[in-house]
Amino acid sequence: MTRKARNSEGESSTKRVPLRTCIGCRVTDLKRDLIRIVRSSNGVQVDQTGKQAGRGAYVHAQRECWDRALRGTQVSQALRIEIGPQDRHRLRGHAAVILGEEF
Ligand SMILES: [Zn+2]
Repeated sequence: MTRKARNSEGESSTKRVPLRTCIGCRVTDLKRDLIRIVRSSNGVQVDQTGKQAGRGAYVHAQRECWDRALRGTQVSQALRIEIGPQDRHRLRGHAAVILGEEF
C-alpha cells in the first residue's frame, strides 16, 4: 500500500500533514516528529526510514515518551505482539542513540 505522498502543489494551503499518536504520551503530533517502531520478522525494531513494512507505532523523540512506552504495555498493545525484556532492551538502546543519551 504505497502511496505517493509528494506531489508538486507548491505553496498550496491544502497540504495534508500526516498525524500520528505517540504511544507514550498519547498526544497526536506530526508524523515526521515521531519515531516509528515496527513489528518485523526480527522482532520489534526502530524504523529509521519510516517505510519499513509491518505494523507500526509512533513515539516522540523524547525520553519521557520512551520511558512510558517501554515501561507499560503500550508497545505490545499497539503492535499486537508480546515483547520481552530483550525487545525492551533493544528499543531502549535505539532510543538512547536517537535521543543522544543513556537511559
Ligand atoms: Zn509522546
